[in-house]
Amino acid sequence: MKIDLTPRVVGDGSVALDWRADRAAQRWTLLIVRTGSVPGYTALHLSADSARYQINNLSRHQRYLFAVLGHIAGGRACSAWWSVTPRTGLEPIVDTSVALEQHLARLERFTVMPQDRRLTAYWQLSPGFVDQLVLEVQRGERIYRRFELEPEVNSLSLDHGRGLALKNGEPYRLLLGCGFAGTVAASSAPVTCTAAPQGEERAANQAFDQQHLIYPFLALGPEVQIFEDDGAPAPAAVGEDHRIICCHCRQPVEWDAYRLRCKKCGAEFIPNGRGAFLDVARLRFGTCQCCLPKKIIIQKPHSEELRCAHSGKEHIRLPDAAGFLLIEDLPFGLCQCCRPRRPLTRQGKHIVCSRSGEQHRNEHGRYVLVPTQPVFDAAAIDDLLDAGLAEICASGVSRARR
Ligand SMILES: [Zn+2]
Ligand SMILES: [Zn+2]
Ligand SMILES: [Zn+2]
Repeated sequence: MKIDLTPRVVGDGSVALDWRADRAAQRWTLLIVRTGSVPGYTALHLSADSARYQINNLSRHQRYLFAVLGHIAGGRACSAWWSVTPRTGLEPIVDTSVALEQHLARLERFTVMPQDRRLTAYWQLSPGFVDQLVLEVQRGERIYRRFELEPEVNSLSLDHGRGLALKNGEPYRLLLGCGFAGTVAASSAPVTCTAAPQGEERAANQAFDQQHLIYPFLALGPEVQIFEDDGAPAPAAVGEDHRIICCHCRQPVEWDAYRLRCKKCGAEFIPNGRGAFLDVARLRFGTCQCCLPKKIIIQKPHSEELRCAHSGKEHIRLPDAAGFLLIEDLPFGLCQCCRPRRPLTRQGKHIVCSRSGEQHRNEHGRYVLVPTQPVFDAAAIDDLLDAGLAEICASGVSRARR
């Protein structure tokens, strides 16, 4: 398959992309790289009938790389890469030094936390293109479960809530692969560990390589930040002065199945991470669904967005569903029209973006945008990058680590 891509600067900050191929594609993927000291990556998956797309609100002071991928049965083809500075009067030029392989995301970290009948995997990717994560759970020699995840997901809890009946004491192997456009770019080394009851996690996992294992933090002092390598305070020694007393009935509060509860009145508390404790019954948005022990959900200032104060994972409310969903639990995944990407929902016969209402279509297992207007507003990407609030990873923007 041969694809001819023609970019044109149609105004300051605006680039129109037109493409033609010698055969029909199943879908198209537009690749955009913002060059510079902090490179930004975004990929837009478009329906097969797309042949033109315009990107507005790019920075006039940045150089961007554009290419388009065509997906055909059993393979894909890439156009030439074009280097474009979106300023009137500057001509796009073909850059033969660029190859997609240089710009794929890599796995930087993969760790697993064993708990009672539960394992949580955490990972971090380098900036680059990624549109699929595959987490595999092996038991013995067999694949027990396999999860395909959106690239915005950076951890996954495996327990009965997600349909897994993990047994304490049985070894499991977890590994993560990240891929783009049908190619797996990088896989983690497998991490072997076993689930174990609260307090026994470390002892139960002694026989395994500890390098990629982390353990739940149940001390009552200020919390250790598991992913802050530098300057993290050592965990405070847990002394008698860290005992806490129920504010309702003055009885001691204790950890039970990773929940801090008063034995007498049943009141539940969560650590706020800084050595203080909050009464769960009085939390406005309740507790998160990502962490165990559970953490507080907070609302971002001037926004509707709710996030776990500890993991930063967004807790999404969908109009016709009760409670909160994490990205990994969304029925249709995330959209291709917004940055950051928003949940897709069903509207009558159609699957649409919950923010823009743009229609999406499942083509060969992936939701692609069926654009009403072949225009993409890149302002969100550049705004977020410029504010230092986000790193573009993958086919979307992900918030920077907290
Ligand atoms: Zn009490
Ligand atoms: Zn959480
Ligand atoms: Zn959208």
